[in-house]
Amino acid sequence: MKYKDALPKLTLFPLTAGVNDQGHLTIGGSDTVQLAIIYGTPLYIFDEATIRAKCSEYLRELGQRYSDTLAIYACKAFTSQALIRLLHEEGFGLDVVSGGEMHVAKSAGFPLDKVYFHGNNKGEHELRRALESGVGRIVVDNFHELALLGRLASELGKSQDVLLRLSPGVDPHTHSHVATGILDSKFGFPLATGQAEEALTKAMSTPNLQLIGLHFHLGSSLFEAEPYAEAIALVLQFAAQMKQRHRFELRELNIGGGFASQYLLDSPAPPVSRYADAIVSALTEQIRQLKLEQPRLVIEPGRSIVAKAGTALYRVGGSKDIPGVRRYVFVDGGMGDNIRPALYDSKYEAVLANKMGKLETDVVTIAGKFCESGDILVKDVRLPKTEAGDVLAMPTSGAYSIPMSSNYNASLRPAVVMVKEGSARLIRRRETYDDLTGHDSP
Ligand SMILES: *Cc1c(COP(=O)(O)O)cnc(C)c1O
Repeated sequence: MKYKDALPKLTLFPLTAGVNDQGHLTIGGSDTVQLAIIYGTPLYIFDEATIRAKCSEYLRELGQRYSDTLAIYACKAFTSQALIRLLHEEGFGLDVVSGGEMHVAKSAGFPLDKVYFHGNNKGEHELRRALESGVGRIVVDNFHELALLGRLASELGKSQDVLLRLSPGVDPHTHSHVATGILDSKFGFPLATGQAEEALTKAMSTPNLQLIGLHFHLGSSLFEAEPYAEAIALVLQFAAQMKQRHRFELRELNIGGGFASQYLLDSPAPPVSRYADAIVSALTEQIRQLKLEQPRLVIEPGRSIVAKAGTALYRVGGSKDIPGVRRYVFVDGGMGDNIRPALYDSKYEAVLANKMGKLETDVVTIAGKFCESGDILVKDVRLPKTEAGDVLAMPTSGAYSIPMSSNYNASLRPAVVMVKEGSARLIRRRETYDDLTGHDSP
């Protein structure tokens, strides 16, 4: 029973995670302690098998309940060319929120007709690029954008498929910073105020725009499935009214992302099947009652595709013991590569990758190396006795860490590797000091 303490935490790591004879954490058949030596730390490791398994789980669970389903990955959770190619192989589309993400998708050879372009303040140059490069759908967020896009499409002589982003006014019961579908939100046309109807009639009468559907995104980390059902009912009732009043045909219903991931042992996330049940029941029930045609269903998971697949590795350096208060253990990364604990009070578990067999006898606080007191990665985590040189592994680090990383304190953004069946490949190199000065003019 030598892995007794560390083993329950293993379930938070990627599907391929294990412990080898040396008591080291392994992922995708690679020894993480070795990876830390080869690629340096902080290091982000993505497990290909876990990403692929998540993708097929979504396609299977949704597809078997409602065949006309498209799943698209929300790039902002983590983007790289290697990941985008993998998602294309899995049959996913992409959700991008900027010209930059569109560029990454394009440079990875991703078919742009499977790309949805989101955002509450898309720039004129970004919209122009989207129109020119044949982006599949633009999700219009507000009246300014509707007018601008209409003008640009007409100038370029393009006919563009669009969706309207609605704000259905549903409380998703999540952190206020990640709740997006409530009335008091910067995103979307509110259903409650009549602005959604006004936007719909404007879009329908804009010559170069084809309004093919409606979109909403309630927020992120929704541990309950009911808010989806609630929002689907509201939006389909709206669609039915709009059909009666304006002959609007709903061909696509995009219900956004927000599906939760399990970060802590005591807060499991619902399985995909639970969300799929709630979503498809609400959808088919409302379609029947309201006598609507079956629209295509689009879902946009981000976090839940990559969170569990990603692991962060840090090297332990010094520590500070405040007797009777707490013991801080310092690592060589922190808020520069993962700002989520500081920004959202996000919680993580951690293990010592080189001591998986050891009893977890100490409770310590993991602090980063950045010049902020709030630079704490994990508060009060149970670990074996830590020493300088240990490798700390944080599970479920795959979403919203690298994309939110910064060069604060002129730190270097970490390297990222993808592991699979015993081999590891670098999918993003660590930044260098030259990268830091490369944009400056003397
Ligand atoms: C962020 C976002 C998503 C993905 O959210 P997750 O919580 O990562 O699944 C999907 N759709 C839109 C419009 C988003 O802004």
